[in-house]
Amino acid sequence: MADVLKHQGNFHWKGVEVLDYKNEGTHFQSVTRQILSKGHHELPAELRYFEIAPAGYSTLERHEHEHLIVVLKGRGQALSGAEIVTLDPFDVVRIPSAVWHQFRASRGEPLGFLCLVHKDRDRPQRPEVEQLAQLQSDPVIAAFVRS
Ligand code: MN
Repeated sequence: MADVLKHQGNFHWKGVEVLDYKNEGTHFQSVTRQILSKGHHELPAELRYFEIAPAGYSTLERHEHEHLIVVLKGRGQALSGAEIVTLDPFDVVRIPSAVWHQFRASRGEPLGFLCLVHKDRDRPQRPEVEQLAQLQSDPVIAAFVRS
């Protein structure tokens, strides 16, 4: 039998709850999360939809697992390792293993994107003081990151 989540308009899917991005923390701003698939034995990947409100941002973090992102709505930017990339609708971005990353919505528009991850994954790490200082030694990255 087909397993279909019907889109109900405006980036909401039938029966899917709009959750907080994370349970706690002040190191991110204005982000919601919807879990579209928890993955299955033959396809062990979780598919989520995140939406960052205008001027909001995700946590600056890194981890061993990778992200595959598909932008669906709005505009923004992402830090991935030493690079800051612009994000526009339907762009596809891979965040490799172990690189520092952070997503930001533009000032005027939200940023909504699908994010695929392995269903069994390590916990994100936030930068230590020295790691943050190292990242911020690049002035472009220093101006971009929020922590
Ligand atoms: Mn991440």
